[in-house]
Amino acid sequence: MSTNIENILIIGSGSAGLTAAIYAARAGFSPLILTGIQPGGQLTITTDVENYPGFQDVVQGPWLMEQMQKQAENVGARIEYDLIVDLDKDVWPFKVKTDSGKEIQAETIIIATGAQARWLGIESEEKYNGKLVTTEKDFLRISKFKRKRFSFIPIKVNIDREEEFLKHLSKILK
Ligand SMILES: Cc1cc2nc3c(=O)[nH]c(=O)nc-3n(C[C@H](O)[C@H](O)[C@H](O)COP(=O)(O)OP(=O)(O)OC[C@H]3O[C@@H](n4cnc5c(N)ncnc54)[C@H](O)[C@@H]3O)c2cc1C
Repeated sequence: MSTNIENILIIGSGSAGLTAAIYAARAGFSPLILTGIQPGGQLTITTDVENYPGFQDVVQGPWLMEQMQKQAENVGARIEYDLIVDLDKDVWPFKVKTDSGKEIQAETIIIATGAQARWLGIESEEKYNGKLVTTEKDFLRISKFKRKRFSFIPIKVNIDREEEFLKHLSKILK
């Protein structure tokens, strides 16, 4: 089993991990990023991203994450396609074990393992993955605003907290 000591180890290669990598690399730390099983993170499973600053038009999630990874590598971050299976934070340098059997020691660890979307588990979910799914009220507001053609697929789920949130949000937007 090989052992390395890293200045900065970043766990996760989504937008948070890669952003941290860009800053750490530019500060001269040559961070190591371990991608996990989803290199590029959640944005690689969506299509249109239109809230990322700096792009006039919609960009594609996988393309955006590819650019982010290249940017991180260009400024000095290193990427390994591996998964952390164990982390010992009671020792310093911290110790992690990877799926491929490596043991890595790191003075600093940035955990950017993100989240997982909570899927509903319904049949159409896979089919419409990456498309807009919203509440009826929000749907009407968005479709009017964008003047685009939409398909309306009604589904009923228990979204009490989401409803509360949207009610609150619509008050702010009024
Ligand atoms: C279908 C869909 C559409 C979306 N559309 C938009 C949008 O248009 N605009 C927007 O702003 N947001 C959007 N989001 C939300 C956005 O994708 C997330 O907010 C964002 O990806 C979070 O980034 P993150 O880096 O924190 O985590 P994630 O992107 O979740 O990345 C987590 C990373 O951690 C890694 N990881 C996890 N466990 C380990 C481990 N044990 N060892 C090593 N690595 C590990 C994973 O492999 C992954 O690389 C969308 C999400 C989904 C699912």
